[in-house]
Amino acid sequence: MTDGVSVGAGRFAPTPTGRLHLGNARTALLAWLWARRHGLRTVLRMEDLDPLAVPPGCVARIYADLDWLGLTYDEEPRWGGPLGPYQQSERAALYDGALESLNAMGLLYACACSRKEVLQSTQAPHAHDEGPIYPGTCRPVSGPRSRLELLDLPRIGGRRPALRIDVARALERLGIQTVRFEDQVRGSVELDVSKDLGDFVVRRADGLAAYQVACAFDDDAMSCTQVLRGSDLVLSAVRQVLLLSLWGRPLPSYAHVGLVLGRDGERLSKRDDALALETLRTSGLAATDVRRRLTGGLGLPDTGDLAALVAGFEVGPNLAPDVRLEG
Ligand code: GLU
Repeated sequence: MTDGVSVGAGRFAPTPTGRLHLGNARTALLAWLWARRHGLRTVLRMEDLDPLAVPPGCVARIYADLDWLGLTYDEEPRWGGPLGPYQQSERAALYDGALESLNAMGLLYACACSRKEVLQSTQAPHAHDEGPIYPGTCRPVSGPRSRLELLDLPRIGGRRPALRIDVARALERLGIQTVRFEDQVRGSVELDVSKDLGDFVVRRADGLAAYQVACAFDDDAMSCTQVLRGSDLVLSAVRQVLLLSLWGRPLPSYAHVGLVLGRDGERLSKRDDALALETLRTSGLAATDVRRRLTGGLGLPDTGDLAALVAGFEVGPNLAPDVRLEG
């Protein structure tokens, strides 16, 4: 547990690149209920790693949506807290330290392959969420590896390189062949990361820490002992478990819940205005009705009352199915 904070937390960690839709709202609500059910802190972390990708006004709209939904956070960017700052754009130096510790283990290498080159150089199947599995083109051959000068990486072929982690070497260091964790919703998750996911990017070519690093680091640094989010992030969890294990940190309790699908059966997108929380909020709907709708069909109390939902909240296979919006 992080110094000075003896109680764990649940968190909601939106990337402010668009409006919250019903899927995001459901994740936020379920994560909040789970934390409150166990008397934990609630943390709202703004994942604005890349401030240039944040449209003007976007963060303010997210606050307005969450306030309206009745989700108050003990710690968040607006009023801070003991483990802040709570917006990733202000935490770059911390991520540099986390990357340096992986570097000191001799696990990183520079890679300037473009996405197109990776696609062309491999027949490997896609790792679903981060494109094709990287074939290891830039991975140095075996043998001892020296520490890189992270602040001054030479360009490769005129391009600024990204940094990747050598996953096989990382597993070897940990003395394991697969990464395994227990998911509170999906049960045991186990993957051979080096075969099934490959060497993933830990620092982007523009120098920003990759989501996997920032998220895993922050969950630990903010003492988030519960990580509830959509099932589209299960593979990210595998990478994050690997990173936390390398840093010698404890794992949070993961719960990857089913997604809210649109009427077309596809995942909701931030561009889908009709299902934006803001649209519902400004159309005069009552927050309690939206909360009831978001928690419907999950084996939870049939109510929009927050206190009753907290009291009857249960995390388990009941939260696994994707839910398709009717109509
Ligand atoms: N920021 C990520 C997103 O909005 C989610 C991160 C997480 O919950 O781990 O998709």
